[in-house]
Amino acid sequence: LISIRGLTKAYGTFTVLHGIDLDIAEGEVVCVIGPSGSGKSTLIRCINHLEAFAPESRITVDGITVEPGPSLAKVRAEVGMVFQSFNLFPHMTVLKNVMLAPMRVRGTPEKEAERKARELLARVGIAEQAEKFPGQLSGGQQQRVAIARALAMEPRVLLFDEPTSALDPEMVGEVLDVMRKLAGSGVTMIVVTHEMGFARQVADRVIFMDGGRLVESGPPEDIFDSPKHERTRGFLRAVL
Ligand code: ATP
Ligand code: MG
Repeated sequence: LISIRGLTKAYGTFTVLHGIDLDIAEGEVVCVIGPSGSGKSTLIRCINHLEAFAPESRITVDGITVEPGPSLAKVRAEVGMVFQSFNLFPHMTVLKNVMLAPMRVRGTPEKEAERKARELLARVGIAEQAEKFPGQLSGGQQQRVAIARALAMEPRVLLFDEPTSALDPEMVGEVLDVMRKLAGSGVTMIVVTHEMGFARQVADRVIFMDGGRLVESGPPEDIFDSPKHERTRGFLRAVL
């Protein structure tokens, strides 16, 4: 579904990603772990071209090449993104936040968008919050709205960048539960996370990044129980 070849990205003379190769299959759940500054966010932001990357790199999503130009809107419609900081529209109700993109981008009729939005809010467990504004919700509830909003575009893949890092500890679980349910229902997901328990339980594959390189990748049992690389071992010792 996603193919990444030789992904290289630099800020000036500082190279952040050094030729990353990665394929993600339909329905796969991949967790990306690694120390701060290792390039995890940059990697997933390149997939929908929120970050530009070196021209010799090649990323395709569902066969569409990710590049500036008219095809980029198509890629972005297929790639949903959930950020650490929710990024909801504060002046719109929860319901309207979820309805907006399908109406604007897809031309979905209002009635249909509302029906779908209510269904998605039920799916993430906050049907009863539909008429509230984001500021009236807890962090965990806001993040679940953000997930419903991303799902409203019926993306082929969902990217999560540390979706629970800005949450109070008691709200982390409810968001991870929603993500676990999504993973179980076959949604393709790439999740940058510090939640090692979640990665171990839910990921089909775990990727360890360090210094802009994909150091090690494999099933969670392999990465967590018998990591091959010293850098992976060192990182896991520090976080587990
Ligand atoms: P964290 O776990 O802290 O979120 P990360 O693995 O997501 O880290 P990135 O945000 O991808 O790391 O950053 C990778 C590297 O790129 C870091 O060294 C960072 O300082 C650098 N970097 C990120 N954005 C910029 C920018 N706009 N200009 C220059 N350097 C940047
Ligand atoms: Mg990051």
